Amino acid sequence: MMNTRPVDAVVVGAGFSGIYMLHRLLRAGYSARLFESGSGLGGTWFHNRYPGARCDIESMDYSYSFDENLQQEWRWSERYASQPELLRYLNHVVDRFALREHIELDTAVVGARFDEDTVRWTVTTDLGDEVGARWCLMATGCLTVAQVPDIPGLDTFEGRWFHTGDWPRDGVDFSGNRVGVIGTGSSGTQLIPIVAEQAAHLDVFQRTANFCMPARNHPMPPEVEVHWKAEYPERRAKARISGFGHSQPQNDNRYRDLTPAQRSAELEARWRSGGLYMMRAFADVLTDPEANEATAEFVRAKIRATVHDPEVSELLCPQGFHFGTKRLCSGTNYYETFNRDDVTLVDVSAAPIEEITPTGLRTASAHHPLDMIVFATGFDAMTGSLSRIDIRGADGTSLASKWSGGPVTYLGLAVSGFPNLFLLTGPGSPSVFSNMVNSAEQHVEWIADFLDHAREHDVYRAEATQEAEDGWVAHVGEVAEATLYPRSPNSWFFGANIPGKPRVFMPYVGGVGNYRARADEVASAGYRGFTLLRR
Ligand code: NAP
Repeated sequence: MMNTRPVDAVVVGAGFSGIYMLHRLLRAGYSARLFESGSGLGGTWFHNRYPGARCDIESMDYSYSFDENLQQEWRWSERYASQPELLRYLNHVVDRFALREHIELDTAVVGARFDEDTVRWTVTTDLGDEVGARWCLMATGCLTVAQVPDIPGLDTFEGRWFHTGDWPRDGVDFSGNRVGVIGTGSSGTQLIPIVAEQAAHLDVFQRTANFCMPARNHPMPPEVEVHWKAEYPERRAKARISGFGHSQPQNDNRYRDLTPAQRSAELEARWRSGGLYMMRAFADVLTDPEANEATAEFVRAKIRATVHDPEVSELLCPQGFHFGTKRLCSGTNYYETFNRDDVTLVDVSAAPIEEITPTGLRTASAHHPLDMIVFATGFDAMTGSLSRIDIRGADGTSLASKWSGGPVTYLGLAVSGFPNLFLLTGPGSPSVFSNMVNSAEQHVEWIADFLDHAREHDVYRAEATQEAEDGWVAHVGEVAEATLYPRSPNSWFFGANIPGKPRVFMPYVGGVGNYRARADEVASAGYRGFTLLRR
């Protein structure tokens, strides 16, 4: 073990939140080090380099707002940034603010232990380093631990296989190969049309059809960029108090208050403009079953109009869960791809996958010969990255055991029993339910303000109270109960994709603006719900 120079704060993870956290710490005069397990910057964007990977929030919104010169000078080339462009952006930010020398790449944090005597964290890396820090800031991401399902026979497969969330850096050439893609969520729906263009034949193994909106991506029109940049002050302000953390118009009208013609016009306009805005076609899409079903049926009609084979189009029409309660997808030519002769949709809900063989994949009804398999099967979301680090709180309890019944937090930011530790975009905050960059900035700024408060008031130990945590957990649950989410619990929002994971609704769905107001209120009340010890 090497003991290295202690710092005020350790940051874990070099995605959007970790990079900005590091910048804020250094700018405020704290000493800090950031550890990142990947060999490059970007967090989930570093690892998700599958063909077609791009953000489904518009780049002008999905970008930092904290520096006026940065947001004015950086030029996004497309409406939705591709994965390589996002990495270029984050590398630019790190160089622009001279952060690189404070970042250790290829270094996974494997443990973090709080010592009550010194009131400090000791953070341990896989290289054997130990670093002491007053504050431990976990920017470990919500969608970073790739989940490969436990299908018998995978180790016997003689072809190559990949997971979208852990894609080879030198890429994959599908040409001439029979390819199978398992999974039709956001990653699968982006990847499938591109693989179809390259492969000799593509089998798509679909268990649950999801709703996929047309992204309608295009190069950034110069006049849109100029206009948007001129409006940045208002747009960013609007995003901060919005439902989902972006600046696009939402419809505040309820479905039942509109005429049939107005409803159709709204749905058509959103389908034409593309992307995820269908989620806000009506103010009550996620709370009123009738509004929700009308939206779902509108999209099903579009699928039926696009896919020629009626049997295939019916299979692609999502059924059995409410629109948007499985994360909405946004893709390019997704449904059109199923009109190709060299693409087969395999319904693995009717005939489940039984095994992978040396030469392909066997379902309950047929063997599919394959040279390559792509798992677009998602992540151990929201808690996976944290529960893989051995985090020990004040009495030695591990975070993983505290969360064995599901994650519990105060504001998604702090955990009782784990003093001086903050989570960025943790469970119980809007995080995955919002424009992540907006939510990351909000958490970074809240934590930075907290640290300044601690420095000014000689606070050396801060811990969320059990009562505050219980209250927040109850509130997160109540807010979710008022929506359609609990009626469709078969999603990663509930941890349902991970065998044995407790079924708990993890994000805060009360809206980015409401969440921000509550977090600010806690701060203005002198960090109500935290026990602060002063020197
Ligand atoms: P996902 O949404 O969890 O989708 C996983 C897919 O794999 C589902 O269709 C699932 O079917 C299927 N699956 C899992 N295990 C299976 C098995 N054993 N047999 C058959 N099918 C199986 O994962 P994801 O697509 O990687 O997306 C995760 C999240 O990352 C998204 O929801 C989004 O928040 C984010 N993301 C964003 C973007 C973007 O910005 N454009 C792109 C990619 C990802 P079931 O539904 O039946 O479980």
